[in-house]
Amino acid sequence: MALKDIKSIIAIASGKGGVGKSTVTANLAMAVALEGKSVGILDADLYGPSMGIMFDLKDAPEMDEKRHIIPTFSHGVHVVTLAQLFPAEKANAWRGPRAAALINNLLNFVNWGDMDILFIDLPPGTGDVQLSIVQNCKLHGVIMVCTPQSVALADCLKGIDLFREMNVPIIGLVENMSGFVCDGCSKEHFIFGKDGAKTFAQKMGLELLGQIPIDAPLMEGGEKGMPAVLANPNCAGARIFGEMATKLLTT
Ligand code: ADP
Repeated sequence: MALKDIKSIIAIASGKGGVGKSTVTANLAMAVALEGKSVGILDADLYGPSMGIMFDLKDAPEMDEKRHIIPTFSHGVHVVTLAQLFPAEKANAWRGPRAAALINNLLNFVNWGDMDILFIDLPPGTGDVQLSIVQNCKLHGVIMVCTPQSVALADCLKGIDLFREMNVPIIGLVENMSGFVCDGCSKEHFIFGKDGAKTFAQKMGLELLGQIPIDAPLMEGGEKGMPAVLANPNCAGARIFGEMATKLLTT
């Protein structure tokens, strides 16, 4: 199945790097797959692809008879990432036109099979990759990921502006690293501030899809190559991803 035949394509975006966009992509995709849907991830974070580690992909992908990439099936999710195609120790030092060409190849030359939902993990920012994807594929919508502090919200604001300018519906906002529950005192600590992204979502007229705590199993799942939603389904973060997936599939 080509990209144009996929029922729903959802981009996951953030203004700032390191806010947990890939963690959200991996766990949300996994949670939707656990609901019985056929799910894919296109890791379009060209300069820092994380899905190779997050889904434990070691080998190059297989090709079909037309020389189109066959996504690698890992833990129930079909994944394509540049981490499989380029050496890990080499910098992907690509100027805009090369990056845009690579993205177009990924959009055109992958055989997705029969797929219900494809999540595209975008790089941070508002550059060539975002523009190429918005212009060349029909997005159902975009999910913004942000942490509660102003330095992250300021960049998220720019991302929201880009997608609104380009008429891409914004499905909602995920506040990541919302708070941390200490296992010594059981108190919740708001290390990056309390409800910053929640308040921001209200101001921007966006739905708050969930508030994900700082939760060690989410990090461990990413490190070990099995998203926490599968590896540790009862952790606080995994349960919220489960609720988000149900909501996503019913709205
Ligand atoms: P981005 O894709 O925005 O650059 P990542 O998803 O790669 O961010 O997350 C950056 C780091 O933070 C990773 O090591 C990830 O495991 C960790 N991380 C992200 N969200 C959480 C969370 N809610 N709790 C614990 N660790 C997290």
